[in-house]
Amino acid sequence: MAGKEKEYDVVIIGAGSGGIGAALSAGRLGLKVLLVEKSYEIGGNAAVSGVSVWEMGVGGTGIPFDIYKQLIKVKNASGIYSFNRHCTWKYKDGKSQFPAGADLTVDHSLGYRDSLRRYGAKSLAEDEDFVRKYWHGVVFEPKVYQDVVEKLIKDTGTITLLKNTSFQSVDFSKGLVQSITLSNGDSVSASYYIDATDSGYLCQACGFETLFGQESKKTFNEPDAPEIPTETINGVSLIYRIRPTQNDEIQQLPADIPQECWWRDSFPLTSMVQYPNGDYNVNMLPTMDGKEYMVLKREAAFKECQRRSLAHWHYLQTSFPEFQNYRRISEFMSLGVRETKRVIGEYILTEHDLLAGITRQKHLDVITLADHAMDLHGDERSGCTELSEPYGVPYRCLVPKGSKNMLVASRSASFSSLAASSCRLSRTIMQLGQAAGTAVFIAGNRQVNVMDVPSEDLRKELREQNVQLEWPIPRHLHEHIMNKKNCETWKTV
Ligand SMILES: Cc1cc2nc3c(=O)[nH]c(=O)nc-3n(C[C@H](O)[C@H](O)[C@H](O)COP(=O)(O)OP(=O)(O)OC[C@H]3O[C@@H](n4cnc5c(N)ncnc54)[C@H](O)[C@@H]3O)c2cc1C
Repeated sequence: MAGKEKEYDVVIIGAGSGGIGAALSAGRLGLKVLLVEKSYEIGGNAAVSGVSVWEMGVGGTGIPFDIYKQLIKVKNASGIYSFNRHCTWKYKDGKSQFPAGADLTVDHSLGYRDSLRRYGAKSLAEDEDFVRKYWHGVVFEPKVYQDVVEKLIKDTGTITLLKNTSFQSVDFSKGLVQSITLSNGDSVSASYYIDATDSGYLCQACGFETLFGQESKKTFNEPDAPEIPTETINGVSLIYRIRPTQNDEIQQLPADIPQECWWRDSFPLTSMVQYPNGDYNVNMLPTMDGKEYMVLKREAAFKECQRRSLAHWHYLQTSFPEFQNYRRISEFMSLGVRETKRVIGEYILTEHDLLAGITRQKHLDVITLADHAMDLHGDERSGCTELSEPYGVPYRCLVPKGSKNMLVASRSASFSSLAASSCRLSRTIMQLGQAAGTAVFIAGNRQVNVMDVPSEDLRKELREQNVQLEWPIPRHLHEHIMNKKNCETWKTV
């Protein structure tokens, strides 16, 4: 890009899964990177909000695997889990195994490779055997994850990380981001910018168009879209942590919190994932409907979610004897928000892509694969539709429509609401970031706009970084993942 010399090759706003992927890929390729995070801690949803679970899914062979290889060096920092019990599965006497939701426990016999498949199940309810055999995710300690990622960032030697600093305003002219002003008063400039915030804040400030809520059937002709658009978004969750103790007294509920569920008919289903040390990560599905969250706003919503999660824990502890000796030891400091605004890009991923799958999609610029179900959480809409094969996400989903020197690499990339419900998993988002960081490297070398990055060059570079672009998994990548050294757990390191 012509113009006066820039301080950085790339400025990345937001250090969640997308921002981490973008920074590590750009930094490892030698670019001078500024990574700006508004929170005191990095990790976003996956650490600060406690979503320290990489649900099973195809792909995840790039930077997520590099992080995993570091996580397993720390005792009790990560594990691979299996479905132990589920509310739709019955014992022989016809009773539900676990009416509260899902109970996922660590299985030390499994490795990372076992966490790389979701597609193929009919549904959780119908397919207990398949789910038990193939559905295994990764659980990790959020603090260790943050430490490992910060170490990897430092190891590049090219990334400056600014925490507790946010993007405030942008100078956007002649179709280019010229510079960005940060909350510390600094104005920073770069050849390229990556918006890795959770709601495309940088893109919005530049005037790029966004989507919000559910699009109607008419918008993209998606079979499962509603007839009329709605402002409904996926629900939010306040995740908390419980720990086994010797004490089996029921924990007291504060006097001003009712014992019964007051915001819906009954307590929501819950995903409980065991950490390697025996604690559980407790994730209500969800704690609050997305619409209510938008009305209450962050602070009031957090307070109300705290009350709900205390009542929820009381219900769990009093209804399930197996949790009587557990203690609710903490809650995460930020709400887990599944969905906000999405930026309209050069291509919008829709349900058609998810249903077609990689063998029928025609895109030449696929930069990662995904196979998570269309997965909706909330009172107004909920449900899970499994996919029959993985689909590809095109690079153009990361290019805001008409953008010259900025990409978007987060859950606010260019997806329809239905596609976003599938494509939002942390490892997928991290690999969108990996593609964005790599794309600006190529753009810089060729002195071109982001839209003019040749997809064959981008895909070649991503393959070299072990990103899975083909399905089934190519042999060399399979061997890389299966390599015993890479899959050892902390027990054998
Ligand atoms: C409750 C819940 C459960 C989930 N369960 C799973 C699961 O089991 N498995 C799975 O894989 N995925 C799960 N997901 C999805 C996944 O966690 C997220 O979609 C993914 O982590 C999003 O990453 P991101 O980088 O797009 O956003 P985020 O992680 O939200 O990161 C965005 C970052 O941008 C920063 N930021 C925002 N504005 C600014 C600004 N102005 N200046 C500087 N920084 C800024 C934020 O502080 C944040 O750190 C779940 C999500 C939720 C909410």
